[in-house]
Amino acid sequence: MIPAISLIESRSPHAPADVVASFPAAGEAGVQAAVLLAQAVQHDWAARNASARATALARAADAVEGAADELAALVVREVGKPVTEARAEVARSVSILRYYAQQVFDPVGAVHEPSGAGLLFTRRRPLGVAGLITPWNFPLAIPLWKAAPALAFGNTVVLKPAPQALACALRLAELLDLNEFQVVPGGAEEGAALAETADVVSFTGSAAAGALVRAAAVRRGVPVQTEMGGHNAAIVLPDADLESAAAQIAAAAMGFAGQKCTATRRIIAVGNGDEVRQAVLAAVARLGFGDPSDPGTVVGPLIDEAARDRVTVAAASAAAGVGRILAGGRIAGGTGEGGAGSRAGSRQAFGGLGGWYVEPTVVDGLFADHPLAREEVFGPICVVQDAASADEAVALANGVRYGLASAVYTRDLDRALDLSARLDTGLVRVNAPTSGVDFYLPFGGEKDSGYGGREQGKAAQDFYTSSHTVTVSPSR
Ligand code: NAD
Repeated sequence: MIPAISLIESRSPHAPADVVASFPAAGEAGVQAAVLLAQAVQHDWAARNASARATALARAADAVEGAADELAALVVREVGKPVTEARAEVARSVSILRYYAQQVFDPVGAVHEPSGAGLLFTRRRPLGVAGLITPWNFPLAIPLWKAAPALAFGNTVVLKPAPQALACALRLAELLDLNEFQVVPGGAEEGAALAETADVVSFTGSAAAGALVRAAAVRRGVPVQTEMGGHNAAIVLPDADLESAAAQIAAAAMGFAGQKCTATRRIIAVGNGDEVRQAVLAAVARLGFGDPSDPGTVVGPLIDEAARDRVTVAAASAAAGVGRILAGGRIAGGTGEGGAGSRAGSRQAFGGLGGWYVEPTVVDGLFADHPLAREEVFGPICVVQDAASADEAVALANGVRYGLASAVYTRDLDRALDLSARLDTGLVRVNAPTSGVDFYLPFGGEKDSGYGGREQGKAAQDFYTSSHTVTVSPSR
């Protein structure tokens, strides 16, 4: 019997009848074939001189830049990212490619004093085929912040993108136009197959899938990094500029419908709970909501129906206990009950939206051990918590299994420095939203948010190469 071919399909979250991509899944055999192909060309790629690799990456940057409008529109259509953010993601993708095109020329080792006569030096070498497994929420930037350094330092790449972002990945491959960069359509099965075959594995996605990928790679003894979810806290101290803090927090919690690993999930008010609640609710109500292709939109749709339902179920479960819904909590836009409402102050009424929309949701009154106060729900939902002191706020912020990003709002420099040294997150941001990332600095999480070394910036060279120590002694 011929096995059924499974199709990988992506649909527009704003208009779910719109099929954006539909391709047969590569299957385990397809992944193995792609890895073999990548292995076959890796030696030549690594043997090219640095200028040749730099030129290839610079050309790729030009190609992505030349297609900027088209790519931004595709990101909007395929994953529902608001167009302003989609354009920024394309611009960042170009910068990432240019940055690693230059990093090709960085030193690959160091010369040391030999113990006798001769030469003692280290030299970093590529690892082989990099297997990249990526999520849908940054469908260009995440594949590129892994692939660009992998390629720059002499590896070849097999990318297994999220099914929901397949069209973006395939278009990226066309634009890069490199034999050394291949995309395999697929889901969990293909991701698992890649983790079983690549020479180095870099994963970004949920904590559950990351744990499986990590276990497979560690079992085989190949380098692996897994960047996963967060439950990011923003601490608002009594001396903070409340208006600015609230505006940043609202955008960080609800922008792109809260579908960023670094989105603010918890707001911790230190002795100023009433004012913080009021300011945040007002700021949330001002956010543009609706069609992601509208330049005024900040909060668009959720990626799919299941993601939308996880938000409303989480809100309902909180409200069924001790929690109170301060804003939102309902499906918006006529795809289910509670839709077609409108919020005073919002730029656009909900009515007429056909996609996977949920009202931006703020929940109050939960104990710290409530699932919503401890676990990531990947959508526009956050909780407000109170702390009597800065110490209590730090304990609350650190009291979850994640450790990706945190923010502190204060005008007191001593406080800012003290808290930034005690928050156990990979990113600590003072008077800046949890959701910002600089591509030229190391990025990654602590605890269940990250494993296996940082990515991006200069940290990427360490991950995609291994250091060899070379001793050269005189022949006699
Ligand atoms: P996901 O874990 O469902 O999927 C991520 C990728 O892993 C996809 O390509 C998927 O097909 C693949 N996959 C799924 N199961 C697998 C398995 N068993 N073996 C191998 N591969 C498997 O995540 P998602 O829904 O695409 O993305 C959202 C999640 O990603 C959120 O938890 C978010 O916080 C996280 N994220 C983290 C970062 C970061 O840098 N820390 C950045 C963006 C998103």
